Formats: sequence, C-alpha cells, structure tokens
Amino acid sequence: MSWSQRISLALALRQASGHYRQRTLCQAVDGRRLRVDGQEYLNFSGNDYLGLNQDARIIRAWQQGAERYGVGAGGSAHITGYHPPQAELEQQLADWLGYSRALLFISGFAANQAVIHALTGKDDQIIADKLCHASLLEAASHSPATLRRFAHNQPSALADRLAASASGERLVVTEGVFSMDGDRAPLAELHQLARDHHSWLLVDDAHGVGVCGEQGRGSCQQQGVKPELLIVTFGKAFGLSGAALLCDNDTAEYLLQFARHLIYSTAMPPAQSYALQSALHCVQQGDDLRQQLQDNISRFRRGSSGLRWQLSPSNSAIQPLLVGEAEAAVGLSQRLRQQGCWISAIRPPTVPPGTARLRITLSASHQPQDIERLLEVLHALSSE
Ligand SMILES: *Cc1c(COP(=O)(O)O)cnc(C)c1O
Repeated sequence: MSWSQRISLALALRQASGHYRQRTLCQAVDGRRLRVDGQEYLNFSGNDYLGLNQDARIIRAWQQGAERYGVGAGGSAHITGYHPPQAELEQQLADWLGYSRALLFISGFAANQAVIHALTGKDDQIIADKLCHASLLEAASHSPATLRRFAHNQPSALADRLAASASGERLVVTEGVFSMDGDRAPLAELHQLARDHHSWLLVDDAHGVGVCGEQGRGSCQQQGVKPELLIVTFGKAFGLSGAALLCDNDTAEYLLQFARHLIYSTAMPPAQSYALQSALHCVQQGDDLRQQLQDNISRFRRGSSGLRWQLSPSNSAIQPLLVGEAEAAVGLSQRLRQQGCWISAIRPPTVPPGTARLRITLSASHQPQDIERLLEVLHALSSE
C-alpha cells in the first residue's frame, strides 16, 4: 500500500466509525460567548474558568512584554532563550505553591511528556488513574517503563497495584480535577499510599489551579497535600497557554540535563511569561471571580434537577451531563446549538462506551441569565 492509499483508507475507516474529528472555526470567543459562521452562541465548552482570556490587564502586559522583549524567545532556554520574565515567573510560581523550583514548558502536553520520559526508565512502573488525560497516558505508554492503571479514584485499587513487586521505582500519576468527569482525586489517600511504598506522586492540576484552593492554589493546597511533582497549566483558568512543573531543586536540575523538551525546543516567549505574571496576579487576587464561578455552578446544579439525563456528581466548573449513546449526545448537542448554546458532545473513545456526554463547562464570566437560559433549553429538550 502506498502512503496515499494508507491515508485515504484510514480516513474512510474513521468516517465510517462515526468518530471523524473536525476543527471549528471560531470567529470570536471569550469565557461567555462565541461566534461561529456569523452566529452568536453562549459558550459552555471553554476552559476559561475565570474569564481571564480577555482581561485588559493581561492583554496590556502581553503588549508591554512584546515591546520590551520582542515576540519570541530566540532559542532554547539553554542557549539564549531564557530571559528575566521567565526566571521571575518561575520564582513567583515556586513561592506561591511552596516548592523550591518551577520549570516552564510551552504546553501541558509537552510538560507531561518531558517529565514522564526524562524520569522513568525500563525497570520502573508508572501507576496511573484509568481516567488520566491523554497527554499523561500517552507519555506513559511510550515510556520504556511499565504502565499500570488503577480504577478511577479508588485508593484500594492503587494499593493493590503498589503491593505487587517492582524492580525499579514507581511513579503514581493522577489529576486534581478530572477533565471529563469534573470530579476530584482523593489526593491525601493517594499520596499516603505512594509514600508508604517509597513512590512519588505526580498530580496534573490543569483544571484545579486558579479555580480552587486559597488564592487559587489548586486541588493540592485545598486537600493539604504536597506531591513530589505538580503540573500546572496556563491554558485553562489562566486564560493563556503554557505549563509549569513544580518540584525540588535536584529534580529541576535533573530535568534541565535530561528533559529533551526543554533542551531541543524554543523556550516560552518572554512576553508570554510577562503576561503570565499578570495572569498569576489576577488569579491570586481572584476570590471574587472564584465566587462568581461557584455561584454559577450552584445555580446550574440547583436548576438541573428533574432533567431526563443524569448530572455527574461534580462540584467543579466541569458539569458533565451523561446521555449514554454517542448519537443521542451528538443530537442533543445539535439541538442545543439551534437554541444558541454551544456545548460539545464527548464520545467514545475519549470516554468509556455508553457514557457519551455533554461536557458543560462554566465560567466566572457567565451571567446568571446565561445559566438560566441554558437550563430553560435543557428542560425543554428533556421533556420532548
Ligand atoms: C488541557 C490538559 C492538558 C494539556 O495542557 P495544554 O497546555 O493544553 O497542552 C494536560 N492535562 C490535563 C489534565 C488537561 O486537561
């Protein structure tokens, strides 16, 4: 088979399977609204939990950063790409979250790949929650270490995995708030188990940092846990993009020697790091935004009782409505769109078969009437 034949066959199979993916051209988008094909919708599919994406202070900081430092880093951090804004941001993140060091990455995906690949070797075991994000599971399955998964959020299942012997080191991997279910990991129990077995815990808190905990410090601070490795990402509540690993001094030095994503890739632009310092400030001062988000979550959950579909037991900004079959979820998503509410249907293989859902996400920038509108449309469709 030629390359072209192989590619068209794969496309045909994908189309036949009903899992064909397409990008959406969004002409304008913020935490609250989006415009597609000239049509306005309420946006219930974003990750801009605090509405910082369009924050005037952060936009201004990015402009100032570009004026001062140029638009790009100009190289990897090891050559000429590491500038004061990145160093300052790393120090601010480390101080804020109580770690010795923070290392910046251009994305959460890159951070998870880099950390897992650089740390684990062939005798090691990566023990990950079954519902971990694709970036974590992908990194783990491509690592020479053995990947073992444990039942979602079940410490006893992790304990069973840890009880089996291993010749190398073990790394336990979980998320703070799970991206598809919106539920929280029992971090204290998981960390205690990991410690009992001389293992390290890595927590990816992409959906927790900025949103929960004191000053938005995230799921770990909220649950009184300090994992050895903490990943925070800036594409969600911070409203930008990029990520950081929080760790001890030796681990940071080790990754600067061995993490290829840090060595062979252009560093985060200093202007972006400068904007991220402003975003960090907004997150730290953002108790009112977090309160608005909480009010929106409570309003939505209160108003959704009596719906035909089951709402997941989540108190985070991610509020999945379980629909069941993929076609039903897609149909419901289309009907909602006709009524002006933009909500993506999430289907297998992203979620287990039979659990296709609408992944509703709420933001501090939603107004009470936006939530009421969504509820009104959902109740109307529910009673059809
Ligand atoms: C979004 C997400 C990532 C990827 O982060 P990016 O910065 O978008 O690459 C990683 N982990 C989790 C849990 C996420 O939700």
